[in-house]
Amino acid sequence: MAVTELEKPSPCEDRGAAVPTFVRDDLYEERDTGGAGIAVFATSCIASGTRLFCEQPLIAVPGEATQLGVFRAVAALPGPDQQAYWELAACSKPSKDLEWITELRQSSGEDESFNALVEAHERAWSIYETNRFNMRFPNGDRKFGVFYKAARLNHSCSPNVFHRYNPLINRLTIHALRDIQPGEELNTSYIDICHPTATRRQILKDWGFKCQCSACESSDSQRDLLSKRIEDVMVKLRKREDKVKSRPHPWEAKEYSRSMALIEKGLRLMEEHGMSETDTSGYLLSLAATYGARTGRHAEATEWAEKLVDVEMKCLGDDSNEYRAAVELGRRISEGSWSPF
Ligand SMILES: [Zn+2]
Repeated sequence: MAVTELEKPSPCEDRGAAVPTFVRDDLYEERDTGGAGIAVFATSCIASGTRLFCEQPLIAVPGEATQLGVFRAVAALPGPDQQAYWELAACSKPSKDLEWITELRQSSGEDESFNALVEAHERAWSIYETNRFNMRFPNGDRKFGVFYKAARLNHSCSPNVFHRYNPLINRLTIHALRDIQPGEELNTSYIDICHPTATRRQILKDWGFKCQCSACESSDSQRDLLSKRIEDVMVKLRKREDKVKSRPHPWEAKEYSRSMALIEKGLRLMEEHGMSETDTSGYLLSLAATYGARTGRHAEATEWAEKLVDVEMKCLGDDSNEYRAAVELGRRISEGSWSPF
């Protein structure tokens, strides 16, 4: 489609629930990069916070699903969706667990087509393992979903987009984490980007690939130091938070200022990292807001809550639980009705 036809935001493709937020799927394109397969590139300037993808899963299966469950979910798809699934990359290591083959043999009988059936199950599983995204639900349930368009996004430890499954609209949303220039590849991170390079390499190795993103290739010790310092701040804050939960007595000024110093340090480091996102910065901002409210500093707490609303809007949009919770937190703090208990 020509760019001129796409000046207006295009509404999400809708197959059910109403989607109040617009998605800009006209600002990027898929390209075949040869060795690295299909990747997604910006074709226009993309402003930080723009919603770029808003997509329903092709399949969604419980975390404990086996090869049989995944294959059944794929086989149940309508023809075009099934075809789309089989088009996706399959790069995972073969599974060592072979129990499912015995079960398949019992249910299907063994004839000359059995090997082909096993191969189809293995391919469905490999596509699932290569492309699945986490889907978390408010009641604590967890599934994994495969999303056709989002599956084209490659990983980077220095991502420029942020993905999250939004259970309120049953879609995976992807937002720009910062301003993106035309020609830049869109990359999301499959893991916590605050880990140092060696830790990230180990985690990604378990996933079956060696990351060659700019952060991993540049052996930048400054960056690693920054990641390490962020990780240290988060560990210290989580420990303090556990202590607060176990002894919910009123805070002394000293306790507040110690915690706030850590929070502000963490936020500063994230800013330096260029990675202000909901999981780390959002967590720090929500702590700052609640700590302020807990100690009667309502004006400061309201400011922190407003910053939290901005981060949730940027990463997740106004139709997310996180954004709504942030708005509600700000409202309760400014009305003086927030209570830690
Ligand atoms: Zn990397």
